[in-house]
Formats: sequence, C-alpha cells, structure tokens
Amino acid sequence: MRLALRSVLSLLFAGLAWAAPLAAQAPAENLILVTLDGLRWQDVFRGMDSRFAHKDHGGVKDLFALDREFRRETSEEARAALMPFLWNVIAKQGQIFGDPEKGSRATIANQHKFSYPGYSELLCGFADPRIDSNDKVVNPNRTVLEHLHARPEFRGRIAVFSGWDVHPYMVAEDRSGLFVQAAWELPTVASSPERLAWLRASYQQLPRYWPSFCFDALTFPAAKEYLLARKPKVLYLALGETDEWGHGRRYDLYLQMMHRTDAMLRELWETAQSLEQYHGKTALLITVDHGRGRTEKDWTDHGAKVEGAEEVWMAVMGPNVPSLGVREQVETKLAQVAATAAQLVGVDYATLEPRAALPLPGAVR
Ligand SMILES: [Zn+2]
Repeated sequence: MRLALRSVLSLLFAGLAWAAPLAAQAPAENLILVTLDGLRWQDVFRGMDSRFAHKDHGGVKDLFALDREFRRETSEEARAALMPFLWNVIAKQGQIFGDPEKGSRATIANQHKFSYPGYSELLCGFADPRIDSNDKVVNPNRTVLEHLHARPEFRGRIAVFSGWDVHPYMVAEDRSGLFVQAAWELPTVASSPERLAWLRASYQQLPRYWPSFCFDALTFPAAKEYLLARKPKVLYLALGETDEWGHGRRYDLYLQMMHRTDAMLRELWETAQSLEQYHGKTALLITVDHGRGRTEKDWTDHGAKVEGAEEVWMAVMGPNVPSLGVREQVETKLAQVAATAAQLVGVDYATLEPRAALPLPGAVR
C-alpha cells in the first residue's frame, strides 16, 4: 500500500515536471529596461575589434593594458571578457538578438541613425518621421512607459534614470507623470539620508565633462538607490558613456565603459533579486538606440550617412523568457522593443498602440 502510493506520487510528479515547461508562464511583475547609447553589436558579439585597438584609429593610450584586459584567442572568449554578465548569465538564461552572422540582423526602422529617433522608436514601438532631431521637443507620441503608467497597477511605480538631458522630453515627463531624473539633476531619492548626501555630493564634485550628459557612474547609483528606496515596477535606466567615448575616438574608454556597464547591470540584477518584490518576478530588457560605423575612420560616428549605424541588438531575460541564447535566423527591428517590454509584464501592447511593431518573436512565453 505504502509502496503503491509512493509510485503513484512519483508518477504524478514526473507528469508535473514534464508538463511545467509547456504551461503558460505567469508574466513578470517588474521590468528593468536598459539602453546603452550607441554600443555596437560588433563589439558585443565579437569582442574587442583589433583594428581600433590602435593609437590613431582608437585613441588608445595604453595598448599593452588594453590587450591584456580584452584581447582573447576566440571571439567567444573576447566577448565574455568584455561583458561577462551578458554572456555568462543573460545569454544562458535568456536570449540575445542582433547577430548578423547567425542570420539575425537587427535594424532600426527610422532613417536617422541618431539618438532621439532611435529612443522614440524603441520606446513607442514605431518610427515617426516627425522625430528628426535631438532637439528638446516633447515627444508627440506616447511611449510604452506612458501607456503602462496610465494603468492603475503601474501608476506612480515607473521611474526613468538617464544620463542625457533630452530623455525627459522623449518620455514626455510632464504629460506622462513619470518619475524622471536626467543628466546633472541632483537625486532626490535614496535608501538612506547618508546615501542621498553621498550621491548628491558626487554629482556636485565631479567635473561636468559633458554639459548635457552625466557620467554613468552617477546615473547608475542614482537608479539603484531609487530601486532600493521606492521599488518601482518598471525602471528604465539609460546609460550613454559608450556613445560619448565613441565620438571622442577613445576605443579604450569605450570598451572600459562597456565592461563597467556590464558590471552595473549585474549589480542591479543581483540587488533586485535580493529583494522580495523582484526575486524571480523581474524581467530585464537591454538594447541600444543606434549602432556606429564599421571602419577605422567611422566607428566613432553614426547618422544617416554612416553605413552600419542602422544595426542594433537586444537582450532579454526573465521568468517568462525561454532560455534560447543567441537567436538564429530571426531578423528584427528596434521598434519591436516597446511591445516586448509590455508583453514581459503581461500587457498586450497592440491594444494600446496599434501602430507598434509586434514583440520580438519567441522572446516571451
Ligand atoms: Zn552619438
């Protein structure tokens, strides 16, 4: 009798274990959306490009140190040396889109290949020809963040942290009512008065190297402190030093920030996983606003005339994301990010924004 019951139970459990992966997965309850301004897919998928690891082409100050840090035998080793969290965690537990060598080219739908049109496309879900400059003009279209914010479960629980002072316009801060902190604006929220004082002092003490853009080393802790203190359901973190050092023709600093950004993402992810609200219930979606050139001359640049700057990439991980790794034979558009973000938290974006592109295929269960 005892034995019989046991075998019935084990059969039952075997059945459950088999059925579990097929069952519809509950959506994530929280979303962390991250954009890394102008970070090339080539560096992400292949690791350091030795053509730019050069004094003239890349403005590299210490070639020996750069080689030691990021040069490896194979592209798999090189990319993992640059972005260990992306390749050892996200690529294993989630998915990465945008490797043309695997038949998975990802491109922008807009014609401009610069920031505001790219951010608007990925946040709204479509390219709008009216968005044709980086001017501080309030976005006429609602972003996925604004749409989600209109729903009671997300009201007051979405925050935007960006290094760039144009982001408040792109997400229509005033109209949308989103919490937005951008560029050199002093933080107002932290997990303790001491942390807030430290954070504000850092903003005030560092040099304003770029007047309209602040260091990722400030934007990141400001966002992390907000996550700890307010526990938003949707956190959008826009980092951008990769673009700044690219324009500055400093391939060494560009790679350094790529590497540090990866560590920031790991820290943010692990911090979230340590909190009850986020543990096992949070999705992470990462992308870029545009690519950059392919050659020694123009890797630094992007814009309508720069060939290759239309190429982008996306990475996604979460409780409702199948572990498919590098996606093969699937061409995608940056515009698909908005609907994917909504789908990750269980919202059908097509009902909110009929102009939007469909979610990334197979990204969300
Ligand atoms: Zn740029």
